[in-house]
Amino acid sequence: MFLPAASNFDLVKQIQHWIDGQLTAARSQRSGPVFNPATGEQTGDVLYASTDDVDLAVQTAKKAYETWRYSSLTQRQNVMFAFRELVATHRDEIAAQLTAEHGKTLDDAKGEVQRGLEVIEFACNIAHLLKGDYSEQVSTGVDTYTIRQPLGVVAGITPFNFPAMVPMWMYPIAIACGNTFVLKPSEKDPSVNQLAAELLAQAGLPDGVFNIVNGDKEAVDGLLHHPDVAAVSFVGSTPIARYIYETGTQNGKRVQALGGAKNHMIVLPDADIDLAADAAVSAGYGSAGERCMAISAVVTVGDAGDRLIEGVQARIEKLNVGPGDQPGVEMGPLVTKQHLDKVRGYVDAGVSEGALLIADGRDFVVDDYEDGYFLGPTLFDGVTPEMSIYTDEIFGPVLSTVRMEHFEEAIDLINANPYGNGTAVFTNDGGAARKFQSEIQVGMVGINVPIPVPLSFYSFGGWKDSIFGSHAIYGPEGVHFYTRQKVVISRWADPIHRGVDLGFPTHG
Ligand code: NAD
Repeated sequence: MFLPAASNFDLVKQIQHWIDGQLTAARSQRSGPVFNPATGEQTGDVLYASTDDVDLAVQTAKKAYETWRYSSLTQRQNVMFAFRELVATHRDEIAAQLTAEHGKTLDDAKGEVQRGLEVIEFACNIAHLLKGDYSEQVSTGVDTYTIRQPLGVVAGITPFNFPAMVPMWMYPIAIACGNTFVLKPSEKDPSVNQLAAELLAQAGLPDGVFNIVNGDKEAVDGLLHHPDVAAVSFVGSTPIARYIYETGTQNGKRVQALGGAKNHMIVLPDADIDLAADAAVSAGYGSAGERCMAISAVVTVGDAGDRLIEGVQARIEKLNVGPGDQPGVEMGPLVTKQHLDKVRGYVDAGVSEGALLIADGRDFVVDDYEDGYFLGPTLFDGVTPEMSIYTDEIFGPVLSTVRMEHFEEAIDLINANPYGNGTAVFTNDGGAARKFQSEIQVGMVGINVPIPVPLSFYSFGGWKDSIFGSHAIYGPEGVHFYTRQKVVISRWADPIHRGVDLGFPTHG
């Protein structure tokens, strides 16, 4: 177990699992530190679940499934309506918890809660979403209809960058569909989900329907290998997404695994450059670049380059970087010291590989927060496709500019990239925008919109190495992922007995 410095000990809270409607330490032998990224202080000690702890959570969820799957649609909807009200009422408290462990600004954290709320609202409508089809008289006296049924115990494994919203992409829909749920949140900022668990209980969700096991690879592997886990939803980096998909499906589970990204934004010469510069800064530096839909590479075409760089540079000079809980702050710190070091390392690599460093955030310090994990907004020009700042997902406030002569080259560049999460084009030419939406091999496309995240009644998911499995997350595809369709062919009230017929059924 990780033991913090003695002087600090009283301030460090233990973050436990949530099993069968209560906090529990179960049998965990290991734990890890949780930090406030703005100060660098340890604030928590999160328990790491053992395989036995995972089994306890799964068995609890399996038992709860026996009754929850037969709960009425109206009961499930009522729980979601009540949960929606509670999350909305506690929005500020949830946001403060997000800022304390993730580091994002309070406004950004409230936006995260809002996007989670929208999925809960979608789940409030589950009765409508679970309707089947019905065909009368497909054969004489025979009707056919479909029903969608829950899968059983489903698991969610989630990343650090949206500690409240990404789990909410999963469990409201899974639970409303009649499944029970075991969540394994990121060990870097796990606390906010305990708040969600308490609110679900207050909303009337029976014990055991929603459970949390905290931890690392051991907890994840426990879920992937558990015979009573029917399906796994994962969101995180591409190497882990691939591992989750391969391991989960080898173990007979349904898996959706959303991975990392390298999102490009093309700026054409006819674009509104002020609009594009605002968008590049918002999408590149919002949440310190720790978003899977962040813009990482701006591809300028023709003479758009100089004008755009000038606009971005002017804007980032004015950005207010500091602790996320302070008024007026626009960009907070990175999540951990290790991540800060990694992002700084990419900036070093960009310089040594020959890119032009226009704004250097490496030595950025916030007064009175010298131990915080801050990196100032960083901007490169002259980036080429073989440089590591172009090829790798940096996940920090580092924007790379790639200059191209022609629109077609920019499209080819994006299509050659192994990732395909989000992308955007900035132009005033409808024909160019239409060509882009048609030819681009990316799952979510923005036209003069830098972060094209669909609302909850559409589904979210990239293409290529940004997703493994055939279901995108939330929205209609979320309902399909968490349910199985059954087709029923019935004959009623036909008193005519035709006798045995060994032929294959026809429709006479
Ligand atoms: P991560 O892949 O390191 O961790 C995600 C989850 O996997 C965590 O719960 C973690 O505990 C677990 N995990 C980590 N290493 C593991 C291992 N070796 N074996 C089993 N489980 C392991 O991701 P992160 O750093 O927490 O989050 C950032 C990444 O998530 C970025 O790549 C980002 O693009 C991606 N992301 C993608 C989306 C999307 O919708 N496509 C959304 C948010 C974040």
